[in-house]
Amino acid sequence: MVKIIINGAEHSAEAGKRLLLVLNEKGIRVPHLCFHHALTPAAACKLCVVEVKEKDKPIRTRLACAIKIATGMEITTESAMVHQMRNTAIGNLLKLAPHSKAIHKIGREFGLTTGIIPDGCIRCRLCIRVCSEIIGAKALKMVKTEGRNYVSPSDKGECIGCLTCTNVCPTKAIRYEDDGRIRTVMVRDEIVGRHTLECCQICGKLYSTTKFLEHVKQVDADLPEEKEDHRHCPTCSKLYYRKNLKMTAPKLATLYGNKPVT
Ligand code: SF4
Repeated sequence: MVKIIINGAEHSAEAGKRLLLVLNEKGIRVPHLCFHHALTPAAACKLCVVEVKEKDKPIRTRLACAIKIATGMEITTESAMVHQMRNTAIGNLLKLAPHSKAIHKIGREFGLTTGIIPDGCIRCRLCIRVCSEIIGAKALKMVKTEGRNYVSPSDKGECIGCLTCTNVCPTKAIRYEDDGRIRTVMVRDEIVGRHTLECCQICGKLYSTTKFLEHVKQVDADLPEEKEDHRHCPTCSKLYYRKNLKMTAPKLATLYGNKPVT
């Protein structure tokens, strides 16, 4: 065992042991992502940089994963220079993996500059505005988290699964998935709405959510020209209501080789 100084305090440590291991054992935290105790250090992420003063040598910045303990070593784990170098290192890592939650997390823990995790959203608020001003569902809102705005599900309204937001979004940050009869509208990993899809009673195609049809019925309730509540997809509706075609639901269904849904 040899004597070393870490952040002004004297410690004893095994000569020749990796500095990062010694720091970890003593509970002195430095950021690192590429170190594994069972493997040879690669000195790749460069986050574990510290300042080291060795016998008869000037203070230098070294990577704690690569350097080995020697007697009399003086180590400083936090300084302006170390912080600047870690910021450069994390910036380089984020260029390679901008969505990495691990990099953003370690950056936050050590006060490094990481910016936000890119989520594809340009904060144009088109989705929020269309859902509120045109659809009237008010299912989306802006939420401030850690000083940043994020599109999130609203607690004041309810998604009806119309997909107007996904159509209007210029970057497709708000998206949907149809899985069998279930439609899910999502932003990042948050679910905005989950809905049952309805089949067209003529062609059998899944074409709309139940909630959207209910919403339309409600909105149209006072209109004199409101039609009967047929559950037909837009294509079948157009054919069905063209009087001069004299189409009936059973006739239309034969066009598709289907039996009309009753
Ligand atoms: S799918 Fe939901 S969130 Fe999107 S516009 Fe329609 S109601 Fe609003």
